Amino acid sequence: MNNPFDTMNDPIAQRTIAGLSKICTALRSQAWVGAESQGLTPTQGQILALLQATPDKDMRLSAIAAGIATTPATASEAVSSLVKKGLVSRERATDDRRAIAIRLTPEGHQQAAKAADWPDFLLDAVETLPSEEQTIFFKGLTTIIHQLQEDQKIPVSRMCVTCHYFNPNVYDDRDRPHHCNLVDAPFGDGDLRLDCPEHVTKTVDS
Ligand code: SF4
Repeated sequence: MNNPFDTMNDPIAQRTIAGLSKICTALRSQAWVGAESQGLTPTQGQILALLQATPDKDMRLSAIAAGIATTPATASEAVSSLVKKGLVSRERATDDRRAIAIRLTPEGHQQAAKAADWPDFLLDAVETLPSEEQTIFFKGLTTIIHQLQEDQKIPVSRMCVTCHYFNPNVYDDRDRPHHCNLVDAPFGDGDLRLDCPEHVTKTVDS
């Protein structure tokens, strides 16, 4: 009989991947349910949610493709379908008249708000963790995302850990060990940002 506690053959990193994979499956299946009910594909819904989350920017197709981690060709096809559905428009970018920006139409804003809610079904499950464990889990996720970015497996996003203003672990304070030089304030692991509009990419010299 196999020993179910023989972790030599099933280390915790492997079991964590199996757990993440189950959550990904749930997210994908929920995205299909949400997409179907709105007459969209999951990719189209992701694009709407991305545009909704970055309202102040003239998003180019390349930024959309990077933002949802897909190829420019797939993003272009999805945007064309969204244009036909009247949910987004292609317009001249305000910062460069030669460039084309993708913008939500008023109907697109309504659909985007619904699409942004697709992952909310996970909220209840995450909230079953005590707040301290949520912070540890979030910090672990941040570290994994950062590593995947370093390995160029996912697009780089505007996270504290890659920010010029981020000063990690400068205080002997368990709750707020880090410092943001931009706002000159201490903060904790639970406040680490995954997509901060004020982010400035850290260079080797900074
Ligand atoms: S500017 Fe934003 S990303 Fe940079 S350290 Fe401060 S909160 Fe984090």
